[in-house]
Amino acid sequence: MTETLTYADLLAAVAAPEGAGAEIKDPATGELIGHAPQSTTADLDAAVERARTAQRDWAKLPHAERSAALNRAADAIEASAEALAELLSREQGKPVKNGPNAAFEVGGCVAWTRATAAFEIEPEVLVDDESGRAELHWAPIGVVGGIGPWNWPMMISVWQIAPALRMGNTVVLKPSEYTPLSVLALAHVMNQALPEGVLQVLAGDGELGRAFTAHGGIDKITFTGSTATGKAIMKGAADDLKRITLELGGNDAGIVLDDADPKAIAEGLFWGAFINTGQTCAALKRLYVSDALYDAVCEELVAVARAMPMGNGLEEQNVLGPLQNKAQYDIVARLVQAAKDGGARVLLGGDPDGSAPGYFYPTTLVADIDNDNPLVAEEQFGPALPIVRYTDLEQAIAWANGLEVGLGASVWSPDVERAKEVALRLEAGSVWINKHGAIDPRVPFGGVKQSGMGREFGELGLKEMAEAKSISV
Ligand code: NDP
Repeated sequence: MTETLTYADLLAAVAAPEGAGAEIKDPATGELIGHAPQSTTADLDAAVERARTAQRDWAKLPHAERSAALNRAADAIEASAEALAELLSREQGKPVKNGPNAAFEVGGCVAWTRATAAFEIEPEVLVDDESGRAELHWAPIGVVGGIGPWNWPMMISVWQIAPALRMGNTVVLKPSEYTPLSVLALAHVMNQALPEGVLQVLAGDGELGRAFTAHGGIDKITFTGSTATGKAIMKGAADDLKRITLELGGNDAGIVLDDADPKAIAEGLFWGAFINTGQTCAALKRLYVSDALYDAVCEELVAVARAMPMGNGLEEQNVLGPLQNKAQYDIVARLVQAAKDGGARVLLGGDPDGSAPGYFYPTTLVADIDNDNPLVAEEQFGPALPIVRYTDLEQAIAWANGLEVGLGASVWSPDVERAKEVALRLEAGSVWINKHGAIDPRVPFGGVKQSGMGREFGELGLKEMAEAKSISV
């Protein structure tokens, strides 16, 4: 039975009793939201056991029945969407209603769950001739352990949950210690529609994450987070050859070609870079602009950015929120300082008001910055965009490809064929033209180089949650 749950219902269902568990505070105000339960490795053992038991029956269901269950889980999310968005906003910081924020993220959970349910996954006939018949089937892997980050905690959990369940696996998740309540609440809501033991969430810190990777009862780890942790997971998974999908950090480049219209692209550039206050794996993090229109692009971006209010996510007018945690705030502050020290020109922001209670770093645009400045070379994961001037497109392409990461990239030009030629030369898993970070559940997403391994979304993403199994007659 699906119910419409309130914010208070969700907290009562998932938070630890007062005084117990880890304190979870609102990053905009520092106020206590509640306590998160802290699971132990014994809890993990028990959860994996339940998941293994549940998986036997879940795997036997035909695709249509698993898809129907996913659609019912999407209905449940829809029914409690308002409460989920409020909890997400309080815990993560993103504004609740305006812009691509909390309500948008909850809507994304619904959309991804339904899109994942809608794929047709049929056995493929590989050979059918006088030599015989060979078919390719997609068999469940078993128990999938999902480890997630704090930036889009609900949506990224759904990216792990929905394809894994659809393909006949069961799931145990470990959310980030910064945003556990959002993920616990999401699973609580989805579980109104799913059989027992199919989806479980254990909150805990990085130690618990390590225990996931080492656990002999988990068959696959799907991870979204930093490149450093992704490498640790890959090493840990080697012991029993666990399957892994790694969606790691990036430092996405955007290249504005010399024929672009600065006014027409400014808003797209802004949201490409500043979505979720820049805390997005595939956000635009380095912008390369042709000398021919450099000043005009800077001017238009400043005009758009100035009009975007930042503040407490529960206040209706805001479209940008705080950074989610102090560590991320410090990274952004250090990198903007490095830009100033390197002689770059701050067009907007760069001067945080230390008196505010939350982790607010103002929207910052930095021009005339060298390509090797740390604000360009390192991932800022926050609201500070470096804008690098180029005179030679070959140089811009070389700069864009010059880092060890390659998640997304974008090219901006009204001449789509010309933009596509540049796109084909960029080393990234996804390249967008005249937009950035516009993900779609039907289109595979993931990184090249050190931005990850494997793909999520689309049929390719579903097949990563399965083992290819051939049957030859
Ligand atoms: P981490 O990679 O440290 O954390 C992501 C998840 O992994 C969390 O659930 C974390 O647990 C868990 N974890 C930590 N250590 C281990 C381990 N050894 N084995 C298994 N799981 C582990 O990212 P951070 O939150 O520290 O963010 C750091 C940087 O990562 C950011 O500055 C940003 O650059 C990048 N990042 C990228 C994201 C993306 O979408 N690609 C998302 C978030 C961050 P816990 O948090 O509980 O310790």
